[in-house]
Amino acid sequence: MTPRIKIVIASFVFLIIAIGCSTLLGDDLPESSHPEVPAVQEATTEPVFEEPPSCPVITDQILALAVSGGEDVEENLRDSEITLVTYNISGDELIDPYYENVSSDLQDQQNNVEIHQQVWDYFRALVPANEREGIREYSIITDGQGGTLAAVAQTQSDLNLWALQVDIADTGNYYELTYTLLHELGHLITLGPDQVPPSLAVFNNPDDDDIYFEEASACPDYFPGEGCANPHSYINDFYNQFWADIHEEWNEINLEEDSDSYYEKLDEFYYKYEDQFVTSYAATSPEEDIAEAFAFFIFSPEPAGDAIAKQKVLFFHQYPELVELRASLLGNMCNSFPE
Ligand SMILES: [Zn+2]
Repeated sequence: MTPRIKIVIASFVFLIIAIGCSTLLGDDLPESSHPEVPAVQEATTEPVFEEPPSCPVITDQILALAVSGGEDVEENLRDSEITLVTYNISGDELIDPYYENVSSDLQDQQNNVEIHQQVWDYFRALVPANEREGIREYSIITDGQGGTLAAVAQTQSDLNLWALQVDIADTGNYYELTYTLLHELGHLITLGPDQVPPSLAVFNNPDDDDIYFEEASACPDYFPGEGCANPHSYINDFYNQFWADIHEEWNEINLEEDSDSYYEKLDEFYYKYEDQFVTSYAATSPEEDIAEAFAFFIFSPEPAGDAIAKQKVLFFHQYPELVELRASLLGNMCNSFPE
């Protein structure tokens, strides 16, 4: 499972099934500095009839870090991303850990079950159970400090189920961790099988450009990579509203094979349309854009104004089920965020 971003592939679109999310910027807190996480409280989904819960001191800091690119600390990246251990998820529980063979310098992180469990417990304290039913695997990964903080991907055994991956080296800052976990939830909500019925042909032939092209060409709506989006799915509406007129320009950049020029061109694209994106990372793709906008929807007050970036946040307010979910997530977060 390869994180989608960070990789440039010489096909007409990304043929990748995982969606990574960068850290806002790696932090270099030692593990011992992990904040105390209060006892897990069960996530709730009570109907909302009033203003959602708020804890602006926390959400303001989360958004400030998201906009600025994170804490200004040194990255210390490895050459590649390594999986340390994968758990199956049964209900709320982590079971059957599978330990990869890793070099001795990674064994402390591989064996740090306390942190593995703490991050999982925090995720399930944040996210109501019905919103994480599709997640059946949880992997502890690392690419060092910085780089990827977390990612989601279809599991290798079932295209309808998803895996959550978290880089243990980047879990010390709960502002960044919270933002990224809810960005990943944004992927699950916008790319899950009820929104985007996954293509079995693409899933079974992840490296076959011809099959991908066939499937994408046969799709009358937006094709995010996992399959053909339902006509009234969030991502199809989002694409039609915000991406239809810039997609061709973006796709040219996406075809760039050389990694340096890819990032250079993507940067130019972002600055050209800066008022359209909530963060620079959002310009990576429609899929990252909607996940970033979803995270801002959760943490920001309902915005006013005409800028397209604000309209992208307002976009989610038109769906009552998402407004209700936002209130649950905020309430859970305000209760569970570590002191
Ligand atoms: Zn992402």
